[in-house]
Amino acid sequence: MQTEADSTLALFAKDDRLNWPTTLAIILVHVGAVAALFVCSWRMIAAAVFIYWVTTGLGISLGYHRLHTHRSYKVPRWLEYFFAICGSMTLEGGPISWVATHRVHHQNSDREGDPHSPHDGAWWAHIGWLLFGESKHKNTALMSKYAPDLAKDPFYVWLNNNHWVPLVVVTVLLYSVGGFPLMLWGSFFRLFFGWHATWLVNSATHMWGARRFATRDDSRNNWWVALLTFGEGWHNNHHAHPTSARHGLAWYEFDPSWLTLKLLKFLGIAKSIQVAKLPSTLPTQKAA
Ligand SMILES: [Zn+2]
Ligand SMILES: [Zn+2]
Repeated sequence: MQTEADSTLALFAKDDRLNWPTTLAIILVHVGAVAALFVCSWRMIAAAVFIYWVTTGLGISLGYHRLHTHRSYKVPRWLEYFFAICGSMTLEGGPISWVATHRVHHQNSDREGDPHSPHDGAWWAHIGWLLFGESKHKNTALMSKYAPDLAKDPFYVWLNNNHWVPLVVVTVLLYSVGGFPLMLWGSFFRLFFGWHATWLVNSATHMWGARRFATRDDSRNNWWVALLTFGEGWHNNHHAHPTSARHGLAWYEFDPSWLTLKLLKFLGIAKSIQVAKLPSTLPTQKAA
């Protein structure tokens, strides 16, 4: 009989065959990102930064990660949906698949069954798991087992099955407003940057940086990954306190998502915010 642990391992098992649809999408986005360099201007960079903040900052960091996966705070349903749509525009998968994958990462961090641990190689943790991992992450029914809370909601099921739709709509809009330059910067370069920034949380912050908390995994606090990802680089703090909406726990740990959440709280939109406190006697930080 297959146990639950067995089925989790099988879900993210390594596969020798290349996952072609994902690989082609990754190649296409990288080609578009290089093409963007030929039509560069400050206006285009500013547009890409803004869309990056909406999709990776609001969509992934505040949405998929701190809200949908860890439920570290509450917002009205319409804002939850908005964050999920923003998250889908990163082409990192639909909310059910992303949340399920990330919950399994927390369950098995740096042990067998972790979808993306540098124990299987830095390359594997960064991108290899997407190129060669089994493509079951796209199977909504299978992934729903790890995100039953989201799977109950028909909107999340629809978005999971059609996660590419908002991105296509926005890309067509960008093209109609600003032609090829805006499309290349607002979608292609922005996707390329967002992917590598997110993937660095899986690779770099499990290899390089300080460990404040003696967690059972290899997670680390990495300031430059935090700068690229709206605060997601304070990953050792996060593994020690997964349900804390605040990841940068010390005053010098810059956490833009936390600042955004404080603003949402001030406006009366975000409630029931869970926050981990720094222990009064800090264990000595051990550098990588
Ligand atoms: Zn981690
Ligand atoms: Zn997490």
